[in-house]
Amino acid sequence: MRILIISDIHANLTALESVLEDAGDFDAAWCLGDLVGYGPDPNECIARVRQLPELKCVLGNHDAAALEQIDSAAFNPEARQAIQWTRDALTESSLIFLQQLPERIDLDHVTLVHGSPRQPVWEYLLDTFNATRCFEYFTTPYCLVGHTHLPIIYFLQSEHRLAQVYIPSANTRLALNERMIINPGSVGQPRDRDPRAAYAIYDSEEGIWECHRVAYDIAAVQNRMRAQGLPERHIQRLQVGW
Ligand code: ZN
Repeated sequence: MRILIISDIHANLTALESVLEDAGDFDAAWCLGDLVGYGPDPNECIARVRQLPELKCVLGNHDAAALEQIDSAAFNPEARQAIQWTRDALTESSLIFLQQLPERIDLDHVTLVHGSPRQPVWEYLLDTFNATRCFEYFTTPYCLVGHTHLPIIYFLQSEHRLAQVYIPSANTRLALNERMIINPGSVGQPRDRDPRAAYAIYDSEEGIWECHRVAYDIAAVQNRMRAQGLPERHIQRLQVGW
C-alpha cells in the first residue's frame, strides 16, 4: 500500500492542496494531528482530510485546544489568539469530526500519535535522550509523530543504548529498518527554515519512506490570514519556515 503521511496542516488549505496534487495516487492517508490552529482555513482543511481514502487520524494539541479540552492559557498569547479565532470559526460538522479523533492509533506495524508515544498529545520529541525513552512506549516497529514540525527520524539499533538521529533531506527515499520514530514534518507551518510544505509517502510492502517537499502559494495564505486579523508573526513565519 502507498500511504500518504501528513501532519500539522494547521488550517492551511493551499499547502494541503499542493501536497495532495504532488503526492499523486495513494491508497490510504494517515494524519498525525493539528488539522487546525494558526491558519485561515480550518473547516476547509477538515472537509478535505475527511474525504481522503482509508483515513486514520489522531488528535493534536491545537485540535484539543479548539475543542476546549485544553485551556488556551497553556499557549503563548499569539497562539491563544489564533485558538480563539479557530473556536469561533469551526462549524458544528468540523467540531464533530475533531471530537471523535483518538489520541493514539495502534496498527499492525505502525503506531500513530501527534506528540510522542509517551504523551500522545503534548510531548515534543526534540532530543535523543527522550526519544530513547519513548521507544519503551510502543511495541510496533515504527511510531509516526508530528508536533515539532521538523522532519526527523530517530532509530534504535539493538547494539546501541541511545537512539540515533537522522535528518532526511528533501525528496529522498530510504529503507526503514530496526525500530524508528519518524516525523514527516509539517504541511502547513514548516519550522526547519524550508518554507515548502512537508509530507511523506510510506510504501508499507516495500518498507520505503519517501520525504517530500512541495512549494505552494504562501502569499495567498498570508492574504487570507491578514483578512481574518490573525497574528502578524504567524503570517510572517510561513515565508521563512520557522
Ligand atoms: Zn502543530
